Amino acid sequence: MKAVAVFPGPQEVRIVDQESPRLTLPDQVLLRMLDIGICGTDKEICSFEYGTPPPGDDHLVIGHESLAEVVDVGTAVERLRPGDLVVPSVRRPCRHPGCAACRSGHQDYCYTGDFSERGIKDAHGYMAEYVVDREQYMNVVPADLREIAVLAEPLTIAEKALAQIFWMMQQRPPWIDPETARGERGNGLSAVVLGIGPVGLLGAMVLANAGFTTYVYSRELPPSPRIDLVAAIGATYISSQTATFGQLAEQAGNIDLIYEAVGHSHFALEALKVLGTNGIFVLTGVPGLQAFVEADPARLMREMVLQNQVLLGTVNAGPDAFTAALRDLGLFRRHWPAVVPALIAGRYPPEQAADLILGRPTGIKSVIAFDVSR
Ligand SMILES: [Zn+2]
Ligand SMILES: [Zn+2]
Repeated sequence: MKAVAVFPGPQEVRIVDQESPRLTLPDQVLLRMLDIGICGTDKEICSFEYGTPPPGDDHLVIGHESLAEVVDVGTAVERLRPGDLVVPSVRRPCRHPGCAACRSGHQDYCYTGDFSERGIKDAHGYMAEYVVDREQYMNVVPADLREIAVLAEPLTIAEKALAQIFWMMQQRPPWIDPETARGERGNGLSAVVLGIGPVGLLGAMVLANAGFTTYVYSRELPPSPRIDLVAAIGATYISSQTATFGQLAEQAGNIDLIYEAVGHSHFALEALKVLGTNGIFVLTGVPGLQAFVEADPARLMREMVLQNQVLLGTVNAGPDAFTAALRDLGLFRRHWPAVVPALIAGRYPPEQAADLILGRPTGIKSVIAFDVSR
């Protein structure tokens, strides 16, 4: 079978021909991969800045955002049958008995750092025709989400963040009542998303859907299909080329939430200066090596203390976030029928994977499909 792999030694990205995997344990499932999304993490891996092959291997099969069809199940598999659609999660627990996070099924909070991640760190990924994995890591997808479920994994970033924020907002201003419906928890509050790539756009959808008055702030200037998507979900786009952070804050009022989805340290620091009273700042971007910037940490610290601000870093994601992502994809499609499918730029054969990954990101999701006719 075909797979797309990086070889860190000779620094190559190419298609490999490997033996198809087989079931070897009773709780395993055999998956035929349908869609594999590509993102900035794949770009870093294919630029040899990130990513580690499994121990003893000279290559890493990439791909972590995926949708698959179950084609065979082991004798102990209970929840899944051939024909079911699934989105596999990415991170697998470390082996340390003392890691409370991994031992309780929350490897996204792993303490030791010895977790593995399929397609990223110490484990092969999903950009292959067939994959074997364990039932417990599969998230079942309703059949009617076939066309868009590949977006579930990138959507888990915002879902996990929002779950944490709502929990916090029950304990601190604006003291959201736990009984408040999900779609009303952001009512009367303003949220700013930094960045207009897929993570930013999906984050904006989650926030708008939760009732926040949502702004997206990024470099891009109109006309742009990404800016059109922001408008289509009822959010407001503001370009950093035409409005300063100060002007953004004037328009948004007290900024209750900033959702950072760029991975640019200077931009994030500037944004922190306009976070409102009792505001929460969520960091999701993972910056590579960047130029040092001048900062005034004393001022930042003073403002954060005097305004009861929260700075939260979050990495995706556990089973609850996948469940929420799949539920919300269905909701988003009902609210904005034209928008969600438009997030997928197109499906391309694996031969084009390297060019798409290393090319200029469109901000809308490109998907690799082994059978583009499906
Ligand atoms: Zn990704
Ligand atoms: Zn762990």
